[in-house]
Amino acid sequence: MIDVLSGRCAGALAGACALLIGLAGAVGAQASSADDLRAALDHAREVSYTRHWQAAQALLDDIAPLIEEADLREFADFHLLEARHLALQDRSEEALERAAMLLALELEPDQLLQLRQFSANIAVLLRDYELAFDHLLNALLLEGDLDDPAAALGTFNMASYLFGRVDEHEQAISYGERAVALARATGDPNEECIALQRLAPVFKWAELNERAEVAYREGIRICLGVGNRLFAGVLQHGLADLLRREGRPTDARELAAEAVAALADTGFVLGEFEARLALVESEFDLGLIGVDHEPELQTLQAYFSERGLWDQLARLESLLSQYAEARGDAEQALVHMRAYLEARENFLGRDRAMRLAYLQVAFGLHLKEQQIDLLEESARLSRFEAEIAGQQRRARTVILVLSLLLVLLLSLLLFRVFRARRHFQNLSRHDRLSGLANHGWFFERAEAMLAESAKSGQPAFLIMADIDRFKAVNDRYGHIVGDQVLGQVSRRLREIFPEALVGRIGGEEFAILVTGEDVNKVIHNVEDFRRNAPNSSRAGDPVVTVSFGIAGFRHGDSLDDLRERADQALYQAKAAGRDRYIVAAA
Ligand code: GH3
Ligand code: MG
Ligand code: MG
Repeated sequence: MIDVLSGRCAGALAGACALLIGLAGAVGAQASSADDLRAALDHAREVSYTRHWQAAQALLDDIAPLIEEADLREFADFHLLEARHLALQDRSEEALERAAMLLALELEPDQLLQLRQFSANIAVLLRDYELAFDHLLNALLLEGDLDDPAAALGTFNMASYLFGRVDEHEQAISYGERAVALARATGDPNEECIALQRLAPVFKWAELNERAEVAYREGIRICLGVGNRLFAGVLQHGLADLLRREGRPTDARELAAEAVAALADTGFVLGEFEARLALVESEFDLGLIGVDHEPELQTLQAYFSERGLWDQLARLESLLSQYAEARGDAEQALVHMRAYLEARENFLGRDRAMRLAYLQVAFGLHLKEQQIDLLEESARLSRFEAEIAGQQRRARTVILVLSLLLVLLLSLLLFRVFRARRHFQNLSRHDRLSGLANHGWFFERAEAMLAESAKSGQPAFLIMADIDRFKAVNDRYGHIVGDQVLGQVSRRLREIFPEALVGRIGGEEFAILVTGEDVNKVIHNVEDFRRNAPNSSRAGDPVVTVSFGIAGFRHGDSLDDLRERADQALYQAKAAGRDRYIVAAA
């Protein structure tokens, strides 16, 4: 631990370290160990970025035993720094695996962002553009969660570059300009230099040459101002290339020469070779290329082709082809033209792969958003459906209730109609005073009943009854009493013949059709009537007697035949002195 602290305090944060060592003693072992770890990590990072990574890794190795027990934040910082060192050792795959392990943890947005930026950078180095875009787009999604907006600066720079590379110019410019604005807001001109170094080529790729030139010149000025010769050189080379394309080879040559010097000084070899290419290109444009340039051309060709730098190689082969043509060497011109086309095909193939990777990732993310939208839409739809179904259910219930009510109402109406019809039918079939079947209904029913009896072979009797000297009752007691007597006689007949068809067929004339009974039973019933005549119950009531004519149904009889014989019998009863019954001969 002492080693760690002393190592840490040798770095740029020595002052803070001394303070921390003092504090560690004062606040106790546990707190000091956490604070020490934090300080040690900060120190290791400082060393990693300002000195050799091996020195920083040595610091990490010292604190490695404490890391498993550390807080998540320190754990992630430690491993991210180690991943950086793996990448610097050309162990990029391992670096990516380490970052992926950390991305699976529940980290704070700023740490997630660092991991995404780191992974995207490594993926670009490995030319795994699909992975690069995946990390970049995820990093951009984190932007809203950040406490410090400046933390997104690196993401915007990378977004500007990568979107520019896949011809998404609008997005590239937008992110580049946001990066420049953020960089200005930090107040650190070096950040602005870095951001402009990203933005300027994006304008060039978008063929916005005027804006590109402004950005390049501004970038060169600021980078030189902060002593960042590396980025100044990169910008000078970029501007040289732009001016040469615009047909300004003199300015281009001057800038390219400056770029070569700056990049050689800072040890950025690839940049230096690119600037050397721009230099020979502008010299060719100026007609200055000759035999003494040939070794340089060969050096550049070897460098670019060995590294598969197809873009640069294509430019060089094109130049060599034109140079051979200018010399009148058609054969060489053709060889270089073929090499140019091949290199260009490789370059475009890589470009296409990059754009494809972008589209796959971007469309994939876009698709996920669309799927979420779709899910939300379908959720809303099912809510609607449920609502509509509810409404339909309610509507169905209402309709059902209304239908039931309607059916009930109709039934009621029908019932009343039937009842009224039956009532009127009854009225038309029965006598109002007695309630007995009237003349028409009696004989209609009698006809049917006789037919039944004839069919079943049952006996049937028709009894004709007539109140004796009823005229005298009316005359003596009045019609009202006469009516009452008619009513009493009717009720009495009904009582005596409950199963039979009883009718009032005229004023004080009645008819009774008895079926299923033998003659003795019929006679017995008639005698029963006569024994308990209606008037006999109350003193002062008019004396009422009734005469009866009884005829039995004979096979082959019509109703008229039967009625004829019953009438005859009644007549005989009247003639014999009334208040009696006569049975017609069978
Ligand atoms: P008989 O013994 O010969 O049958 O003599 P009768 O008086 O009963 O017979 P007649 O046919 O001469 O008279 C029948 C009377 O019945 C005549 C009529 O005033 C009376 N009458 C008929 N219908 C009604 C009625 O609905 N109400 C009342 N109060 N009297 C009626
Ligand atoms: Mg009569
Ligand atoms: Mg009479």
